[in-house]
This record gives sequence, C-alpha cells and structure tokens, in this order.
Amino acid sequence: MKTTVVKFGGTSLASAAQIEKAVGIVRGSRNRRYMVASAPGKRSGDDIKVTDLLYRCHDLAAAGQDFSETLAAIEQRFADIVRGLGISFDVAAEIAVLREHLQNHPARDYMASRGEYLNAKIIAAFLGWPFVDAAETVFFTETGALDGEKTFRVLGERLAGLDNAVVPGFYGVLPDGTVHTFSRGGSDVTGSIVARAVNAALYENWTDVSGMLSADPRVVDDPRVIDYITYSELRELSYMGASVLHEDAIFPVRQAGIPINIRNTNRPADPGTMIVSRIENGGTSRKVTGIAGRKGFAAIQVEKSMMNAEVGFGARLLNILAENGVSFEHCPTGIDTMSVIVGGEHFAEVKETVLARIREELSPDWLSVEEGLSMIAVVGQGMVNLRGTAARVFKALADENINIRMIDQGSSEMNIIVGVNDTDYEAAIRGIYREMEHLMK
Ligand code: ASP
Repeated sequence: MKTTVVKFGGTSLASAAQIEKAVGIVRGSRNRRYMVASAPGKRSGDDIKVTDLLYRCHDLAAAGQDFSETLAAIEQRFADIVRGLGISFDVAAEIAVLREHLQNHPARDYMASRGEYLNAKIIAAFLGWPFVDAAETVFFTETGALDGEKTFRVLGERLAGLDNAVVPGFYGVLPDGTVHTFSRGGSDVTGSIVARAVNAALYENWTDVSGMLSADPRVVDDPRVIDYITYSELRELSYMGASVLHEDAIFPVRQAGIPINIRNTNRPADPGTMIVSRIENGGTSRKVTGIAGRKGFAAIQVEKSMMNAEVGFGARLLNILAENGVSFEHCPTGIDTMSVIVGGEHFAEVKETVLARIREELSPDWLSVEEGLSMIAVVGQGMVNLRGTAARVFKALADENINIRMIDQGSSEMNIIVGVNDTDYEAAIRGIYREMEHLMK
C-alpha cells in the first residue's frame, strides 16, 4: 500500500466542525495513514490562534502577571472542540498541568508546543488512532537544528510498527530533554519529516487555499492556481514573497523525491498544487509558472574608471557588505560600474558605516544609494528555451509606462528579475501578469 502523510494546518483544525472535515478527508483514503496536526488556528478573521494565546500566557507568567484569563480562553477552545466532537477527554486535567507549569519557571517553547500536543491528542482520541509524541521522536541538536539522521531513524521505526498515528506538529526535543519548537508555521516541517521518515509516496498539506497562486491575489484579480510546480520554482517564488509552505518544509521531502500536494480542507475536490522534483518532458506545456515580487530593496551604485582592470574590486565591495551582515540579492555590473541590490531593512541600520567603508577602501569616483526598489521575478522552468519572454516582460512594463531600474536573468534561465520603483510595483505585476497569462496555461 502506498502511504500518504497528511498535515492539517491551524484553520483546518480550528473547531470541532473543521476537525470533522479533516477527519472525513483522512478516512476518505486508507493510504492516509499518518496525520500531523497543528494547534487550533483562527475560526474567523478576528479570532486568536491558540499558539498566540499560549505565548501570551507564558509571557504573562514569566513577567509575574495574572495569566488566568488567557489560560481560561485556551481551556474554552479545547473544551468546545471536545464537546463538539462528542468524545470524552479531560481538558481540565491537561490545563491543570499547564497551570502548574506556568507557576514554576515557565518555558516558552514548551508552552507554545501545547497547542499541537493537545489538539493531536484530542484528534487521535476521536479517530481512535495512537498518539505519537513529537517530544519522543523529533530531535534537535544542541544548536536547535533538526537532527535529521536520528529523527528519521527513531520516528521511522516507531511509525513502522503502527498502521496509523497522529503526530503533533511544530516541536521536538533538545538533547537535554527540553521541548523546542520550529519557527512559526513549523508544523509544515513536521509533516515533511514524517513523510520522509516513513518514506511516503505523497505528503498532503491541507490548508485553507486551493493551492499556490500564480500571483498575489491582493494585486492581481483571480490569479490562476498553479497545478504543478518544481521545488526549484517554488524556492524562487517563495523567496520573492509567495508563500504557501514553511521554507524548511521542502528539504526533507525533496531529498527523498516525495511530492507535496497543497490542498484545501474546505474544498477537498479541488486538486490543489503538486510540488514535484521535476516535470517530465511533455508533462506540461506551460512556459511561465508564476510571478512574485517584494518591495523595499536598495541599490548601492559604485562607479570607478578602469574598475574592470582592478582585480578583486567586486570581492572587496561584497566583503564590506558581508562584514556588516548585509547579504546581497543581485549584482549587475558594467565595465566601470557595479550595482549591488540589498534587502532594505537591515541595510538601513548599517548604511552609513557601509558607505564610509566603501569610500575608504575602494575610493570610488561615484557612490550612491537608491532606496525604494521593488524586485519582481517571473519564474518558469518552461522559459529555458523559449524565445521572447524577456521581451514580453519589457513590453508589459513599457506599455504601463514603467521605468525598469534593473534586469537580471538567473543563471538557470528559469527566472527573469526586474527592478522597478516601489511606487510602480502593483502596476508592474498586473501588467506582466496580463502579458504572460496565456503562457501560464
Ligand atoms: N501553531 C504553530 C503556529 O501558529 C505552528 C503551525 O501552525 O504550523 O505557528
């Protein structure tokens, strides 16, 4: 039998009604043997995630303040779920453990992890499946990095002995036995780890959207859902701001070639997005996969005559940035000019130091910084041998009367990146989308 690992996100498990939907999906296929659960998320726009309530509880307790109201709100969330599911589960006893913990040296990660812990236990009881605690099967090293080798072995052995199981997402254990969490949204990572540990044929990630969109829906009306995407394309688009999945969720399954299917718990008939290692030749005729972008970059521009003859000039410039903790995004160069595009936020803090160092060490003829740049990436493996894609991007921008500030084509030819002013960002994305839409089919 092929094994599918299913992970449900916070909105998919926010209430008894949502959990029933998720369980219906799990029961819909016998392949869905292992489930990874998030903590209950928001039931509506103005609701608060249980994880946020737990952090708040911890912070109040750590500051010696009264946390009883927040803890009562958490208890209420779980009590409502248990009542709605019609199971017997002693929520009060679990909350008593947390109260006790909060009164004596509360630990932040431990508290945060209890949303996943309790939700997974409740869902396991409802499904009649064993609960496998991530604190016994997901291991971190002393520095807080995932200990993949040990985790895949121990978790794999544990699950191999079970037909089914529910595993809480988001946390694991440090070598000293304390609970440690991934960064926010980390249940995606747990799902990927479980899929890898059991060598699943598929990792289904159930959320509240019908897959990854080919552009930001806040900018483009009704963008297409991406049906297939490779891990590399996903990396490019995510880096530029499109997000459906925790960044670290890709590596465990990618190494093992396990595809990820992003699905919508509220629209289970939608096929969602398949994330795969490679799209076989002829697998799709699509040329462009998606468009994404981010605002707030800065360009450092340096000019020096005979720069091209000065060995090590670029290296020294980049070194100055590295010394100040600034990583560079792009680096288009001319004969006697060099621009370095950097992320705006951190750079703003160290800008004066960086500029002073460049003047001192490189004695440029001209040095300037332009802020307020947006980077827009058009991504698609299908563009590799296609002629005229760049021309289309430039035409779209010319039609919108938008000035292009920078052009970069990734070395893989899988993306074209253009820089425009932040004020032109939305119009640029819309224009490029319109021009490229027929290549996305
Ligand atoms: N509950 C955690 C969070 O809110 C982890 C997750 O949902 O993936 O970040």
